[in-house]
Formats: sequence, C-alpha cells, structure tokens
Amino acid sequence: MQELFLSEPNKLSLREVATLPVPIDNEIKVKVIYGGICGSDLRVYRGSIAYASYPIRPGHEVLGVVTEVGKDSSLVVGTNVVIFPNTFCGKCEHCLQGKTNICKEKKPLGVAVDGVFAEEVIIASKYAVPVPADMPNERAILVEPFAVTVHALKRAYITTGTTVAIIGSGTEGLLAVALATKLGAKVTAIDINPKKLELAKKLGDVQALTPENVAGQTFDVVVEAAGVKQSFEQAFQLVKPGGTIVALGISSEQVAFSPIQVVRSEISINGSIIYTLKDFADAIAHLSDPTFYVEPITSKFIPLKQYQEAFEDAFSGNYAKIVLEFPE
Ligand SMILES: [Zn+2]
Ligand SMILES: [Zn+2]
Repeated sequence: MQELFLSEPNKLSLREVATLPVPIDNEIKVKVIYGGICGSDLRVYRGSIAYASYPIRPGHEVLGVVTEVGKDSSLVVGTNVVIFPNTFCGKCEHCLQGKTNICKEKKPLGVAVDGVFAEEVIIASKYAVPVPADMPNERAILVEPFAVTVHALKRAYITTGTTVAIIGSGTEGLLAVALATKLGAKVTAIDINPKKLELAKKLGDVQALTPENVAGQTFDVVVEAAGVKQSFEQAFQLVKPGGTIVALGISSEQVAFSPIQVVRSEISINGSIIYTLKDFADAIAHLSDPTFYVEPITSKFIPLKQYQEAFEDAFSGNYAKIVLEFPE
C-alpha cells in the first residue's frame, strides 16, 4: 500500500510500504477514502512546529471505511468513520474533567506520532468515530476541522442576534462563519484576501470586510482565527465592553494589549484548542442538517498521486479546504 512520508521538513514523498497486519484486540483497520490537508500539515511539512518529530507520516483529517476489526472492537465492518486524531490518557486531572483536549499526554497524529495519510491505517477503536450512513463523504471529511470550530464557539456566548466578528477566512474561520450564522448570530468575516471574503459571503447573510474596512465597528464576540499578531491586536479594538475574544489561531508571537481595557471593560479572553469527543458528536449533528450550508468551504478534491499539486494549492493561501482522494 502507499503512504505519504516526510523524511525531514520539505521532503515529502509517496512511497510503497508493506501491507498492514490483521488488527488485534480493540484495534480496527480503516481504508482511507478522503484526507483533508490542514494548516498543521503545512507547518509539519515546513518544519515550523517545534515538537514535530521526523521522519513522519503526515495527516490527521481522514474519512475512511472500517475493513477489519479486532476481537474486542464493537465497530462494524463497512461503517464509515472519521478519526479522532489526538490521543489522550483518560487518567490525568484534565481528562477526568472531560477536557481531553488539554490532556498532559496528548499526542497529535501526523505531528508527534505517525499520521493517517495512507491507503490503510490501524487505530484503536476509541479514536474512530462513526458517521451516519447517509452523510455524504464530502460533508463527513469536514467533521474534524469543524469540531475545532464547534469547540471554539462554545468558548463564547452566541445566540440569536449576537454580533460576531471572525478574523481570518481560512477553513476554520469559514467554518466559524457558517456555524455562527446557523446559531443566529449577525456575522462579519474579516480577511485581507478578497477571494476568501467571496467564499465567506457564500455561506449566508454575512458582512465580509478587510481589516481596514471593519475599523470603527464593535462586536459582542471576536474570534481570532488567523493566528497573526496584527489580527489578535485588532480583536481588542473590535470587541465591545463585556465582550469575549476567542483565541483560535495559533501564533507564537508576542501580542500587545492594554490590561486596563480588559479590566475596565470586562473583556474575556478565552483560548480554544481542538475538541473533545463531544465536540465531534456535535459537529456530526450539525453536518447532518442538510440545510447547514458548508459546501463552498471545500475548494478541491485532488487524487493522492497528485499530492504535490495538492500541497502547493494548500500553501498558496487562495483556497479553503483541499482534500486528497485516496485510491478506491
Ligand atoms: Zn485539522
Ligand atoms: Zn489526560
């Protein structure tokens, strides 16, 4: 079978490896259908994640079908599953509070341990989440990135009429635009790239503005989904007194803000990292609603053998989600 392989940063190849053994105990074997390319895959590719280890098989966003099960697994052969790609211990103080997303032992697939961009993978059953049989594959592949957004929007109070600004219209930002719209919010998408703003406008009755054009407006909730210093700093200008900033984008740059604004205006700053299994379930429930319109967020489906083109497109910044199609 074939798998993508990063021998070191910037050296990606498609290589032939041995067929996998039979899954044992609680393991299952999954034949991969689609693999979504994520921002973290790009950072692993470039070598810009300090804790990434090489050589590594990249990838964590995968939809597949169960083809074999170990004797202790209750999953059924033929079920479509998405993979929950962050291992957790289940025993630390955070896991015991249900916050497996901040587990001390957490290991992200495709970053710290081998990922899932292979024709077949064997994983523990607990990391395989069944999707409804009638959910189109094109929607199911969005479950993992969407679960990030589902978790993030739970970190603020959003209801009918809440004004929400979302800075950054990459896949996560666009999914946040779609979900905040579904929750009844009045949504403003902010991005420097007009192509991304056009995508945002397709998702509903959305105000789409550049960072310059939004200046002067204020919002109940500001979601920073760009992961850049300037947009994080702009979030403090855009948030209303009593409002919430949700920090979703990842940046290691230092950001300047005024503690006096945070104190006097009672600004809440809530970080948000990945998701829990509950967020996966909620993401599947939202995506099961056929009126929930997310189709424009997937820009392209590209066959695995054209992986170089797929990664180049993802790096270009001109698309939202790029999905690899694995051989049938
Ligand atoms: Zn992802
Ligand atoms: Zn834990």
